[in-house]
Amino acid sequence: MKIVVCIKQVPDTKNGVKFKPDGTLDRGAMASVMNPDDKAGLEAALRLKDRHGGEVTVITMGLPKAEEVLREALAMGADQAILITDRVLGGADTWATSSTLAGAVRKLEYDLIITGRQAIDGDTAQVGPQLSEHLGIPVISYAQKIRVEGDCVIAERQFEDRYHVLKAKLPCLITALSELNEPRYMTPGGIFDAYEADITVWGRGDLKDVADTDIGLKGSPTQIAKASDKVKKGTGEIINGTPGETAAFIVEKLKERHVI
Ligand SMILES: Cc1cc2nc3c(=O)[nH]c(=O)nc-3n(C[C@H](O)[C@H](O)[C@H](O)COP(=O)(O)OP(=O)(O)OC[C@H]3O[C@@H](n4cnc5c(N)ncnc54)[C@H](O)[C@@H]3O)c2cc1C
Repeated sequence: MKIVVCIKQVPDTKNGVKFKPDGTLDRGAMASVMNPDDKAGLEAALRLKDRHGGEVTVITMGLPKAEEVLREALAMGADQAILITDRVLGGADTWATSSTLAGAVRKLEYDLIITGRQAIDGDTAQVGPQLSEHLGIPVISYAQKIRVEGDCVIAERQFEDRYHVLKAKLPCLITALSELNEPRYMTPGGIFDAYEADITVWGRGDLKDVADTDIGLKGSPTQIAKASDKVKKGTGEIINGTPGETAAFIVEKLKERHVI
């Protein structure tokens, strides 16, 4: 089976997020990693390939530097990597990102597309479902388990307090949760091979059936008006009183903030 995995290179937010003075993300000051949900999606694809045979293609849209995550994916076991990079694609919102990815995927053969549930920088969780809309295929989001039987994919979709088992005919798109699995490490041989592997680079002209009005900043219906750091928490308050008074005070505060 042919599986396409969409991977995004994201700033590593583990050690906090750094901003430039103008409020935009200071990507240069933070290490870059493969988005965790995407890594789990890639691992799921590789396990399906181990079981059923086939081919895994990884694809990313980003700056030329995003090639790093593609090489990491190749070192883990992906067969083919595609980097979509072009100045006109910069500043894309989720609509323009998903339109661009769709333009690339239309050129590929696929049975299954896997994206992460969400990217840890944009955090919208919109690109996967939008991509399925562009391609006119079903989507199963929040997948915590995936298997393929015949021409169908069966996935557990996570909810807060339960999960649903869903079955869809291939081709289908799945959005993967990082809880899906424990991604494998790159192998030393894989790292050497990936270092020398050819990466296919596509620009605007390589995208199929995508309008200029649907790409880049110009094709983005949303514009970020302002970005700022989180408001810092105030200092704590010590309440002196009987346990009853203290509990009543806390309940009042929680009601004030619509927590309860
Ligand atoms: C107005 C506006 C302007 C923006 N300008 C910029 C900008 O200049 N530079 C910038 O870096 N970001 C910019 N962003 C953020 C950018 O739009 C989002 O990062 C992007 O649209 C993906 O959305 P997300 O990160 O929320 O992904 P989600 O929807 O949370 O991602 C879900 C999954 O989709 C896949 N995916 C998402 N993005 C990609 C990708 N690029 N390649 C491959 N797979 C992907 C991954 O599998 C991911 O796990 C902008 C956003 C807005 C709204």
